[in-house]
Amino acid sequence: MGTAEERREELKAVWQQARDCTKCPQLAATRQTVVFGSGNADADLMFVGEAPGANEDRQGLPFVGQAGRLLDTLLEEIGLTRGDVFVANVLKCRPPGNRDPLPQEIDACQDYLFRQLELIEPRVVCTLGNFSTKLLRGDPATGITRLHGCEEIRRIGPRRVRLYPIYHPAAALYTPKMLDALRADFARLPELLALDPPEQPVQEPQPVVPEQSVQEPQPVVPEQSVQEPQPVVPEQPVQEPQPCRSAWWPRTWRPSASPSGLSSDSSEPPARRR
Ligand code: URA
Repeated sequence: MGTAEERREELKAVWQQARDCTKCPQLAATRQTVVFGSGNADADLMFVGEAPGANEDRQGLPFVGQAGRLLDTLLEEIGLTRGDVFVANVLKCRPPGNRDPLPQEIDACQDYLFRQLELIEPRVVCTLGNFSTKLLRGDPATGITRLHGCEEIRRIGPRRVRLYPIYHPAAALYTPKMLDALRADFARLPELLALDPPEQPVQEPQPVVPEQSVQEPQPVVPEQSVQEPQPVVPEQPVQEPQPCRSAWWPRTWRPSASPSGLSSDSSEPPARRR
């Protein structure tokens, strides 16, 4: 789609749009900040949570509360830091009282997430919990309990990614069994990142549209779009979820780097093959 620098600049433009967003009047009236996301704007691995909570709303960064600390620990256990990955949410604004996102809020906000996915170009997208899993799989009927730890190749917008649903860290905070499952699923991330990137769809050639002659009447509504619209929500799985396996990964502890905003590089990026 462009160089990492060009994509990052475009991502900043999307952020500038999002930070003044008023598409959800209630959220716009009650939020302190729009929590766009943070981390490496050229990351191979992207996490998608649900929505900012109170801490995130105050600080303008995703996953900075208790669930965020667990996310940091799990990342450290697989040798990664926040600077290696990009973290975003389905909703960019905090739902008051931490209520669940409403369907109309998800609809209104989803384009920001799809643009993030398109511009960051991750190979692996790890959905945290039900909301992001259902949205990015385009299947509201199948939940995280059935899907966690099962990777599949999915087309999201113009690209294919390895989609990897796992439990939401907040859910695992108080349920030891879920924490065990989350840790085991997390431990497979290095293996998924080491796989060849999903083959990308062939880009449609752009039709060359002849310029209109001066005399010709201009159609009010164009009959043909110059560029084929990209499907936003994946239509069909390219590959069904794989049978789930769990594996353990040696723990490594490192002090965490706390990212702020969008970084284009990281101290130790995961291996990237394109
Ligand atoms: N939970 C989420 O889903 N996202 C955050 O940013 C924080 C908590």
